[in-house]
Parts: sequence; C-alpha cells; structure tokens
Amino acid sequence: MKRLLVLGATGSIGTTCLNAFRSSLMGDTVIAGLIAFNDSAIYALGTEFSVPVFLSENKTEEDIRAFISSVSPDIALNGVSGIAGLRYSDLLIDMGIDIALANKESVVLGGRYLLGKADRMGISIIPVDSEHSAIWHLLKGHKAERLIITASGGPFRDRKDMSGITVDEALNHPTWKMGRKITIDSATLANKALEVIEASYLFSFPPENIAVTVHKESIIHSMIESPDGAVYALLSVPDMTLPIVSAITGEQSQAKLVRPLDFSSLSLTFEDWDRKRFPMLGLGYRALKLGRSYPIAFAAADEMAVDAFLSGRIGFMDIPKVTEKVLDAGWHTEPSSLEIILEMADKAGIKAEEAICSFT
Ligand code: NDP
Ligand code: MG
Repeated sequence: MKRLLVLGATGSIGTTCLNAFRSSLMGDTVIAGLIAFNDSAIYALGTEFSVPVFLSENKTEEDIRAFISSVSPDIALNGVSGIAGLRYSDLLIDMGIDIALANKESVVLGGRYLLGKADRMGISIIPVDSEHSAIWHLLKGHKAERLIITASGGPFRDRKDMSGITVDEALNHPTWKMGRKITIDSATLANKALEVIEASYLFSFPPENIAVTVHKESIIHSMIESPDGAVYALLSVPDMTLPIVSAITGEQSQAKLVRPLDFSSLSLTFEDWDRKRFPMLGLGYRALKLGRSYPIAFAAADEMAVDAFLSGRIGFMDIPKVTEKVLDAGWHTEPSSLEIILEMADKAGIKAEEAICSFT
C-alpha cells in the first residue's frame, strides 16, 4: 500500500487525481492528506476521503513540514501552480518523499540544483506533465538522440491577427481543461517553452536536440527519435488521468485509465510553430541556451506578465515583450542553491513589474 499526499488538491491536476480515486483507478494507493492554498473546498474533500487537510496561506515552512510528517506519505503529487511549487518539491526531497511532478516550474527553476539533490537523496521524480510522462515511458524502452515535444497550438493556432486578444479568448483552450496560468501559457506557447526547458533538465538533452511540433489533435503526447532514425510515440486521448495515475501507481495499474482510441476516425496532423506570432517559445529556447539563471528569469517574468494580462493591466502580446525585456537584463548567476534561485526569481519579478508599468 502506498500513501499519497496531494498538493494542489483543489486545482485541475488535484481534481483529476481525486476523480481517479473516485473511479477506483488507483490500485492499492490511499490518500494520506490534501494540501491547497486558501480554497475552503478542501474541507469537503477531507470529509469525503476521510483524510487530514491543510491550507498553506499564511503558514510557515515549519507548519507545512509538520503537517506533511503527520500524514507520513510515501509519495506526493505536486499539483501546485506556478513558482510556489518549487518550495514544496524542495521540501519533499528534504523529507525523503518521492514526487509525482506536475509542477513544471519546480524543474525549470530548480534545474540541476533540484534534480541533483533528489539524486543524492535517492528520491524519484516522476514526470506528470503529459509530454514528459510520454518521453519518460518511451525512454525506458529505447535510446534517443532527439526529443520531439508536441504542442496543441492553443486557441490562437490559426489566428492571423494577434492584436486585441481578450482574457476570455485566451482562457478558451481547444483540447485541455486546466488552471488559468497554464491555459494562458498554452495560448502564448510559453507552456511549450517551459516544457522544453523541463525536458532538457529532466532527460539531459541539449536544446538543439529538442524539437517542438504543433499537433492540434493532442493525441500524440510526445516522441523520441532513436539514433537509427526510428521515431517512437505515445498516443492516447487527451486526459491527464493517464500520466497522473501511472506516475503514482507505477506499473501496478490494471485499470483502463483512458478511453481507447478509435482508429477508424483518427487523423493526426503536424505543423511547424510560427516564430512571429508565438515569440515566447523562441524566448524560452534562448533562455535555455544561455543557461545559468536565464530559465529562472524567463519563468518568473512570464508568471508576472500572465498575472498582469489576467488582471487587464497589459495586452496578450505584451507578455513576450515583458519577458524579453527581463531576459535582456542579463542573468549570469549560477543557480546553485534554493536561496539563489528564489532571489533570482524575485529579481526577475521586480524587473518584470518595471516592464509592465512601462506598458501601462
Ligand atoms: P490550478 O490553478 O487549477 O490549481 C492550482 C492548485 O495549486 C490549487 O489547488 C491551489 O490551491 C494550489 N496552490 C497554489 N498556490 C499554492 C501554494 N502556495 N501552496 C499550496 N497550494 C497552492 O493549476 P493546475 O492544476 O492546472 O496546474 C498545477 C501545476 O500542474 C502547474 O504547474 C501546471 O503547469 C502543471 N500542469 C497542469 C496540467 C493540467 O492539465 N492542469 C497539465 C500539465 C502540467 P487553491 O485552490 O487553494 O488556490
Ligand atoms: Mg504539458
């Protein structure tokens, strides 16, 4: 029996995970506890699953640590949104708890520091992001020279004029139902940029060996190319149940996790991404190539800019402008500790706020 702690239990990832328990897809895994930020819906979830719950708003790291140790989990699903997720991943590693990781920001910011520490502590970090989950499964069976990450292209894949995009339009994702931050990131392709960085760190691939292809059906979750030129892909209907449950239960899942594909009506298309309409992906590659604290600055600037867009302070196409201004400031510090990483993220946030003010 495995005891699971769910972080971000009230969010999209958390809800999909709890629905998998409701549908008895979790094998012999049991819920140990639930954590969210300030959503009181957590209390009803605690009652439903008969487990302790915790809201982290205004709580200290000591309080969080005490709650986690009181429920003694074997594994935690990190479904916290944004940069806030990094502190939890770091804490879980310190506490010797394996992580099913949805929070991509943990890897983008934490990078070699976080993964190196997990390695030294013997902690497994199993990716939940659907593209990385696919690659992780594919790499078990094959050597790869190149990773090909698929992107749905978001709601503006076919939109010619990118001016005047509203928040409602940007929140209307064609294939995935997710939290607000990642949905806006999917519309700008910043999400794909974060995923390229995440893949580079998780699987030790240089940026030039990671390609992105727009695949609007979101059926192929990613591909790997072997040295002999063969390409392996993982296919399923777009449903986060598969990567979440398989990351948590490992090989033990006997249940059918997703509806089977109907090949009689399946068509799969691919196209290149448009560098002009989606500058965030190019900026993400630039940050990854420059290394050091550039990926941190990219993620922190994007997070601030998305927030400013959602609250009506800047336009949709200002998000890449803010991010570019922040990257131009130069981020040469080696992110060798959590303190330095968080300091760089704070600095990038301040620079982003300056840029946002200059656009408003
Ligand atoms: P949501 O916005 O739907 O949910 C976020 C969850 O995190 C909520 O439960 C929220 O609690 C909680 N949370 C936020 N800040 C804190 C904090 N400081 N401490 C504790 N809990 C906190 O996000 P998603 O579920 O969409 O995404 C979560 C993560 O998973 C992101 O990193 C995203 O990139 C990644 N991901 C998501 C996918 C998806 O399909 N949604 C797919 C792949 C990756 P509260 O409700 O109380 O505010
Ligand atoms: Mg993804």
